Amino acid sequence: MGLKVGIIGTGMIGQDHIRRLTQVLSGVDVVAVTDIDQARAASAAPEGAAVFDSPHNLIGSESVEAVVICSWGAAHEEQLLACIEAGKPVFCEKPLVTSEAAALRVMEAEVAYGRRLVQVGFMRRFDSDYRRLKAVIDGGTLGAPLMYRSVHRNASVPEGLYTSEMPLNDTLVHDADISRWLLSDEISAVEVRLPRRSTQGGDLRDPTLVMLHMDSGVIVDVEISVNIAYGYDIRGEVSCERGVAALPNRPATVISDMHGIRQAIPEDWRERFIEAYDQEFREWIIAAGNGTAAGPSVWDGYVSTLTADAALRAVVSQSREMLHKVEMPALYRV
Ligand code: NAP
Repeated sequence: MGLKVGIIGTGMIGQDHIRRLTQVLSGVDVVAVTDIDQARAASAAPEGAAVFDSPHNLIGSESVEAVVICSWGAAHEEQLLACIEAGKPVFCEKPLVTSEAAALRVMEAEVAYGRRLVQVGFMRRFDSDYRRLKAVIDGGTLGAPLMYRSVHRNASVPEGLYTSEMPLNDTLVHDADISRWLLSDEISAVEVRLPRRSTQGGDLRDPTLVMLHMDSGVIVDVEISVNIAYGYDIRGEVSCERGVAALPNRPATVISDMHGIRQAIPEDWRERFIEAYDQEFREWIIAAGNGTAAGPSVWDGYVSTLTADAALRAVVSQSREMLHKVEMPALYRV
């Protein structure tokens, strides 16, 4: 028997992670599930898994050694605190939490526990294209990075459910986290510009242009377009002193037909990052099996939350908004 895992939240990504943990990866068993919607939990439960009536009971169960949180972001804080109190390793989908105060409460609890237990679902850090790009930057042959362009395009988002704040407090968190990791740098301030509005998304404020000012002076510009119709397109290009390094175009089938020659584009995040999600869980299973966590931490989730908050302020102020971080606890210094 592998690591015995309980899943909280069996919606879209919860079901995808259940598939991954039961059909793709080894060394792990999904032994428990729960969801506010009990019927959804029951239909998503793999054979033999118990369906719990609450996250609290799942986390407290002796049969569960480690937890995967795939519930709505606003529910994460309570569930994370319960996992830390129980001393159980936990993988938490992004966002870590939805406010600075909540991030600090989770950080305080983990620091008091004295060992990392939480890994946050920033899967781009596990993507082989991003890892190769980072190796080039870290190798130093191109000199210091000066600018980074991050493009985050979605074909569409659910109308009515995805609000005008979400490019900044839901989508930007991935670009913010990967910028810090890729450049080994910290975000000091954020600016936001709102270009001409696309008619594709109705009243939605889209697209959004964000500028992240890094401690080193590097400027990251992030294009977030969430209704761009043609597909899910993630790009990244780092301009350095002696050259440029970029993510490759994802290899895809080349189609030749009466419209010309073209390459297919991933439909959504599940397709584009399928291998990255697998790898993040491979590494999580090993760390959780050792009673701890690796990869993106509560600190990383905290900084993403601060970045989102600063970006939301910058929409209103239309000027540069600073991030005011607490001192990094020793637990998160590597
Ligand atoms: P979803 O389809 O709405 O699924 C969330 C599920 O959790 C729903 O079944 C929901 O029930 C349930 N739930 C909500 N609050 C709960 C609680 N307190 N206890 C137990 N169950 C609860 O959403 P999703 O797209 O799967 O997203 C889930 C999380 O993953 C979000 O934090 C999202 O940001 C994150 N995510 C990350 C990525 C990534 O790239 N890493 C991609 C997609 C999503 P109801 O529907 O009844 O509320």
